[in-house]
Amino acid sequence: MSQSKGVALITGSAQGIGRAIAIRLAQDGFDLALNDLPGKKEVLEDFAAELRRGGESESSYHPRTCIVTCDVSKEDEVKSMIDTAVDALGSLDVMIANAGISGMVDLLSETLEGWDRMMKINGTSAFLCYKYAAIQMVKQGRGGRIIGASSMPQSPLMSYSASKFAVRAITQAAALQLGQYGITVNSYAPGIIATPMVVASKSQIAKRGDKVDYFQKSGTVGQPEDVASAVAYLTSKEAHFITGKSPSHEGCV
Ligand code: NAD
Repeated sequence: MSQSKGVALITGSAQGIGRAIAIRLAQDGFDLALNDLPGKKEVLEDFAAELRRGGESESSYHPRTCIVTCDVSKEDEVKSMIDTAVDALGSLDVMIANAGISGMVDLLSETLEGWDRMMKINGTSAFLCYKYAAIQMVKQGRGGRIIGASSMPQSPLMSYSASKFAVRAITQAAALQLGQYGITVNSYAPGIIATPMVVASKSQIAKRGDKVDYFQKSGTVGQPEDVASAVAYLTSKEAHFITGKSPSHEGCV
């Protein structure tokens, strides 16, 4: 494979689900703009070098890459992240708004500060990434794919769930508005996936005496690659008629 399928920007791609999506999209022939917080620049640089060599993805496609570190909950930073990616790689065809945080705080102990932080990093960041990606895609005039990170339908993580349901709402509204431009908008809503994020929240769940199996129908924890394969489908030609959806990959109660 020598011809690029387009440019994908993946936020929060230094580890976990974002990293697996980057590897899969490189295999599928996309050039990649890799984002995470500025503190993870070196990790991203090593990862990008490995992707360019084709090592991580074991792919015949050697993607062009660029690193765009920033905090995706800040408007000016998201705007310049997209401009930088487009300047470096020529276009933006797929936006994966994956970056997010988690936390197990219940109603009785949640603070306004904690609530606001969760909504900003998970919800506001999705709004900003969707908005500025859509502006760029509309300008290009050849459609596009926008994909966000929601979460399982029910979860004991109160502010986290609220922020992830905001992602679903933004996804549905944006899908309605952007269909006329040939842009599809979906989000993934997986059950528990084995990533650094979950190692932290699982120990919190265990402390509360809850069972992980209770809200994971398969009884097994998924792998980042399981989400990446669903995302790859949503970026494919076959998925051009799927929009406004937040499919749950692992059936949850
Ligand atoms: P993770 O913590 O392993 O990785 C998230 C990455 O996002 C990290 O590298 C982190 O540095 C980055 N990030 C955090 N805040 C950022 C910010 N403001 N700006 C830029 N980057 C930032 O998490 P993960 O498990 O890979 O999750 C990825 C996404 O999938 C998240 O949005 C998460 O809520 C969602 N999700 C995860 C699971 C799961 O079980 N792991 C389940 C459902 C949904």
